[in-house]
Amino acid sequence: MFRGKMLFGSLILALLLFGAFQAAAQDTLRMLRYGEPAEEILAAGESVQFLFTAEAGDRLILVANAKGGEIDPVLRLYTSEGALVTEDDDGGGKRNARLEGVTAPAAATYTVTVFNAARSGSGAVAVIVNDEEQLIAYHGGGVDSPFSADPGYVGYQLSEPWRTTNLTYVILNVVSGFPDGAIEQVIAESFQAWADSTPLRFTRVGDQNADIVIQFTNIDGSSQVLGQACPPSSPCAGSVEFDVDENWTLYEPQAYDSISLLGVATHEFGHVVGLLHSSDPSALMYPQYSPYNLQPSGDDIAGVQRLYGAGQGGVIGAPTAAPGGEDQGNAVVSTISDSQFAEFWDFDVAAGEYVTITMEALSGGLDPLLVILDANNQVIAYDDDSAGDLNAVVRNIRFPQSGTYTAAATRFEQAQGYTEGQYRLTLDFGFTDPPAGGSAGGAATRTPSPTGGGSVTASRGDLAALPNLAETLNGAFVDSVTPIVQRKTGTVRAGETYAWSVTWCATSAAALERGLRAISVTFAIEGDPVPSSAVTEGRREGDGLACVDYGVALAGWQGSSVLLSATLRLSAPVLDGISIYQAGDYIYEYALMITS
Ligand code: ZN
Repeated sequence: MFRGKMLFGSLILALLLFGAFQAAAQDTLRMLRYGEPAEEILAAGESVQFLFTAEAGDRLILVANAKGGEIDPVLRLYTSEGALVTEDDDGGGKRNARLEGVTAPAAATYTVTVFNAARSGSGAVAVIVNDEEQLIAYHGGGVDSPFSADPGYVGYQLSEPWRTTNLTYVILNVVSGFPDGAIEQVIAESFQAWADSTPLRFTRVGDQNADIVIQFTNIDGSSQVLGQACPPSSPCAGSVEFDVDENWTLYEPQAYDSISLLGVATHEFGHVVGLLHSSDPSALMYPQYSPYNLQPSGDDIAGVQRLYGAGQGGVIGAPTAAPGGEDQGNAVVSTISDSQFAEFWDFDVAAGEYVTITMEALSGGLDPLLVILDANNQVIAYDDDSAGDLNAVVRNIRFPQSGTYTAAATRFEQAQGYTEGQYRLTLDFGFTDPPAGGSAGGAATRTPSPTGGGSVTASRGDLAALPNLAETLNGAFVDSVTPIVQRKTGTVRAGETYAWSVTWCATSAAALERGLRAISVTFAIEGDPVPSSAVTEGRREGDGLACVDYGVALAGWQGSSVLLSATLRLSAPVLDGISIYQAGDYIYEYALMITS
């Protein structure tokens, strides 16, 4: 996939040999928009600066959450003149920073900095700025909302609906003190309450790019605001936060001061699908929490059916492993299609336990591909066809640590694939004897043979200033998720200097850093490797991608033709944020004619 020819859709990871080459990461100021998070990797003691514009009176909420590694974010907010307004270190719980209740005094561009106060190492941080008005808070007793205060409202009020009835959700964290999987179960039941009367279908995934992102976080201490959510029309659409400090109970409140997660979650998910507050006191969408009001009422159902029509949807939650289970199978049936080419299933295992996971096609021409991820979305195993008949199996994986892992059920070539159909995913606990035969995943690599007989000299250079070899392409290289050799032809001028580059991108700086551990890029001219001292490497971010460019300058063309070969080698499967690229060599060749 080429920069400037970005395909619409979810082909996020781009292998790119085209367009501007930026020699080094610039210390540019990045703009933040309300509700749109930015991720950054910061070394200990390092800081990053962002700008955002606010209107006078905007009530700001700024959050910097640690995403992994060694990070202790500190948030500082400055006026456009550079005066410090306020700062916070750990107000977001754990080591997260949170600033709220700050009212923008004037319409202006403000600066926010995030500093990593960790003593050593480096880590990833996510920064988000919100306007409180754009979050809808669900209040405990005693606090009114603008909606209930206005006698002009009768019954339900609607926001915009989603453009699809197939929504994905991710649960980023849960509160402690409940049995494993209990909160996930309540969340699934809360979605089901809306799926019972509409065609809405909610699928739990393990991917932060889900439509609906659910987390427990510090909001305002116990009582008052219980949770808040963003309707589909808002910039933070799909965001749901529950206040970590409430005295949560799962279903019916057991005491006067306990708060039903089922009631609050169903209310918040009402906002997420497009309901605003109702003025009907019997409605679940009434802005004040009631322990007797845990399910959608007639008013709520009339509202949600105005948005999506009547129907019967459903929830695909997660299969939960039987604790300590041996020989207890655990299966789920679902469907892979062009619109849902990957589904993510979480499961829990104990340290040292063996699990065999099978994905078999039940209908259609589906070619199942199975990928197992750890909690950091690192690929730990994958398989395409080892179970026979195109079915996938990962046998006897032994997990080093107890915890939640994810089985990504997808299809061969994933987003670029074309097979569809129903599948069954089965987890079998305990060691199982593999059958005779069967083959592991992974593709053989091919060494390109030098041809042409000409030559050219590679060196470091100002690659951004040079014409890029991609401009000589006869058609584009494809973005493949399996190892591949591709060759393109073109014509170069003997006296000209060209930039020859390969770029790897991911959805975030953190995903890029994880992937780069397994990635190396080498260049060869007529089969002879280009020394690494001639290769320039540069990072850049933009358009929702974090990228690294590798490249050389080519000059002094001799002979009539020359073969160039760039090899992008993945020593392990690499997840870019959406697709998984299988281990192996991705080879991009140019067979170039040299003219004077
Ligand atoms: Zn509400």
